[in-house]
Amino acid sequence: MTTAVEIDFDIRVGIALPPTDLLVGGEWQPAAVGERFEVIDPVTERVIAHVARGREADVQRAVAAARAAVDGGAWSRLSGVERGRLLFRLADLMERDFAQLTQVETLDIGQPLKNPSAAIATLRYFAGWADKIDGRHVVLPDSNGRPTHTYVRREPIGVVAAITPWNSPLMTGAWKIAPALAAGCSVVIKPPEDAPLSTLYLGALALEAGFPPGAINIVPGLGTEAGAPLVTAPGVDKVTFTGSTAVGRQIGAQASGLLKAVTLELGGKSPQVVFADADLERHIPMMARQFYLNSGQVCAAGTRLLVERPVLDQVIEGVARQLEQVRVGDPFKPDTQIGSLISRRQFERVSGYIDRGRAEATLVTGGNRLGDTGFFLQPTLFTGTNDITIGQEEIFGPVGLVVPFDSYEEAIRLANDTPYGLASVVYTANLGTAHRAAADIRAGLVRVNGGAGVPAPQVPFGGMKSSGLGRELSYAGIEACTVEKTVSLEL
Ligand code: NAD
Repeated sequence: MTTAVEIDFDIRVGIALPPTDLLVGGEWQPAAVGERFEVIDPVTERVIAHVARGREADVQRAVAAARAAVDGGAWSRLSGVERGRLLFRLADLMERDFAQLTQVETLDIGQPLKNPSAAIATLRYFAGWADKIDGRHVVLPDSNGRPTHTYVRREPIGVVAAITPWNSPLMTGAWKIAPALAAGCSVVIKPPEDAPLSTLYLGALALEAGFPPGAINIVPGLGTEAGAPLVTAPGVDKVTFTGSTAVGRQIGAQASGLLKAVTLELGGKSPQVVFADADLERHIPMMARQFYLNSGQVCAAGTRLLVERPVLDQVIEGVARQLEQVRVGDPFKPDTQIGSLISRRQFERVSGYIDRGRAEATLVTGGNRLGDTGFFLQPTLFTGTNDITIGQEEIFGPVGLVVPFDSYEEAIRLANDTPYGLASVVYTANLGTAHRAAADIRAGLVRVNGGAGVPAPQVPFGGMKSSGLGRELSYAGIEACTVEKTVSLEL
């Protein structure tokens, strides 16, 4: 395993950064009070940008611009074909700037492979829906039996407020803006303060693509200063949030108290259930990847490895070996597999959980910081029981816990025994076991022996229990950004 981390400072020089102001009504503007916040490259711990620090007055301006684009019709009454054309154009521009977007997000987050492919695929998927959103006609006589013309319109819900997390801001941003824009809604995005740059880059491309003023607005800033007023702004019709369960719960209460529509994509503590008949040689690399990729900063990370006892030792040894070979390092180096945690705060949080793990469970491998600069952590594996802190709470770091089980029933009980229900993986050679488990696990996603590279825009994504409310992606994403209206006229 790597012990020192070599950082290439030169490779960072010359990366083209996007504008750092607010995007409001089609123009870049400084924050009303002129303040800025620092954005740090977590690998070098150097300041890479000073970004406009939006507050309530800025949120109000952005929401007013978004309202105008919907109420005045400049965006909402454009034909679906035209909205789709602009979304396709934005995706094409992202593809043109693929290398620059990759550099910006990699710099901002400190993780390798942060390319815009998933965001581009999402924009194209929803661009395809833009001219296919239609209503329906219902045959319904009036109270005297006379014929009526009765139909149901599917209309844009209005102004959508989107709040995104730092672990994949471009992708989660695309999940929110693409269905909203396809449906004819305007958006105000509040990107994460730890990684706002790729969203600002997207804003610059949206201007170049020719979206009308106010269709896409961006208010960077802190959660309490820019996010909170956005949730409660009277001109916002729907709030869509991806982030921690604690903040999501608060936002859900505020938004629904104001009778706004709300979608919440929150945290997870996802199980990987390994039955003894699984093809271990084939799947052990995936079991490890499930919780070390992006340094475990993935909402759907499979952080609890539930293993049937006959193969327990084999899985522990195999996964530990995988973790020990992971190349932790500078995300700009081509052979790096995982980079730095996002911030000192996150590093301390994850280290605190590792200390908890050392006290409550048995450390198999990892657990230490690598290097003195940046927030690099060894991928870490514990064995223990499901009821301990590191078996119940989301760590959001490269930390896995192995828990043994002795029967199918116990496996399912353990799989469901956390407050979360976002994702899961099942490994088995038995089709019956696979489908039984897929039905019995309470999570929004069940992958068996791998499966497609989901989340993918074609299928819904979202959580059960404390992992969220509602679904994003697929046609469910369009439904979540539209409302139905019944119209009936006497003939
Ligand atoms: P976070 O909840 O701290 O912040 C998320 C966003 O909310 C940020 O933009 C932040 O500025 C904003 N925010 C914070 N407080 C706010 C408030 N009071 N009002 C309005 N906005 C506020 O989460 P994070 O640390 O950025 O991201 C990590 C979390 O996100 C993890 O829990 C992870 O599981 C979750 N996540 C979930 C998904 C999913 O699809 N389910 C995807 C990615 C991340």
